[in-house]
Amino acid sequence: MSVVARRFAELYGYAPEGVWAAPGRVNLIGEYTDFNDGFVMPLALPHRAVAAVARRTDGVLRVHSADMDQGVVELVVEDLAPGSDSGWAAYPAGVVWALREAGHQVTGADVQIASDVPTGAGLSSSAALEVVTALALNEMYGLGIEPDRLAVLAQRAENAFVGVPCGVMDQMASACCTEGHALFLDTRDLTRRQVPFDLAAHGLRLLVVDTRVKHALGDGAYAQRRAGCEAGARALGVRALREVPYAQLPDALGRLTDAALSREASPGPVDEIRRYVRHVVSDNHRVERTIALLDAGDLRGVGPVLTEGHASLRDDLRVSCRELDLVVSVANAAGALGARMTGGGFGGSAVVLVEEDAADLVAKEVKEAFAAAGHTAPRVFPAVPSGGACRIQ
Ligand code: ADP
Ligand code: MG
Repeated sequence: MSVVARRFAELYGYAPEGVWAAPGRVNLIGEYTDFNDGFVMPLALPHRAVAAVARRTDGVLRVHSADMDQGVVELVVEDLAPGSDSGWAAYPAGVVWALREAGHQVTGADVQIASDVPTGAGLSSSAALEVVTALALNEMYGLGIEPDRLAVLAQRAENAFVGVPCGVMDQMASACCTEGHALFLDTRDLTRRQVPFDLAAHGLRLLVVDTRVKHALGDGAYAQRRAGCEAGARALGVRALREVPYAQLPDALGRLTDAALSREASPGPVDEIRRYVRHVVSDNHRVERTIALLDAGDLRGVGPVLTEGHASLRDDLRVSCRELDLVVSVANAAGALGARMTGGGFGGSAVVLVEEDAADLVAKEVKEAFAAAGHTAPRVFPAVPSGGACRIQ
């Protein structure tokens, strides 16, 4: 019996029906594109949330996390409503709520969770928690929901129940990634393709550098970028910025004028909206370039695309911070092939593409630079492209 299953039995006094796992993710390229109906390219991490679960028929939901200093949280499924729970239990409870809201019969559950996905590091520990809960309930209750639809329900739980306005990338990555691949996802219609990304076979490593900082600035910034992108799309007469082809970017920027924006009650000055549009359209293009490089087996060629993406996030979208910029500049100076911040920014993590035999040196230089700057020591680990959510017992 797994540790999580044993813990379940100790806690609830009987054996679970099964044990499921769902990974965290890191996004290789395509940032702040998902709310613009654009392209993203995440890969699943070996780090994952594991849940031992059993059904209940009495309308009670009990959840416990081995990682939280909190006992069992007991809830009544019929009483679940957005905003009714603000603690960590909102993630699994939100999934139960979203399933029931979609018309699925879920009459309760006992849940025991343990996760080694770092929390709050931009690696989607929240999506791992949602997806593992959704998959377990889907299988136990025989709901027959496909993984991509489960991801959408998990996103709905996070958006509407927990109250976090995230896109669908995190949940899709956790639900749908496969080992040795990055997931190309078109967030408009959820069409996707597994793109071979076998780092080890090419003598490469993708390092994740968790800066372990989270600047408060990030909270309002996401909503502001989102509103700015939406205003830009309206002024350009498109439903979403993904409809602006890269070749037409100069023309689109030229058409974004004060007059065009004033008709749309813009949330920001025209220069700012132009920068946002330039980031989104160029990052979508960087995803397409990355796919072409990976399909051609040119994994090293992805390095400069990552660094270019970082410059765009730093200078145009302005969601980086000094710690993330330090990772990128020091890693590149130490011989990395390329690097960029990943996730929402203002802290969190960066990814660094590096030759296997240079990985230790690059990690060491980054750590030394952080120490010299007086920053908290970063956590550095390799991102091995792993499989998505599955039953493990
Ligand atoms: P990220 O998804 O980038 O890690 P979030 O702020 O979206 O950051 O999600 C982190 C939250 O998810 C935590 O504050 C906690 O509420 C919940 N969470 C993540 N992992 C666990 C866990 N192992 N046990 C309980 N709650 C967890
Ligand atoms: Mg999250």
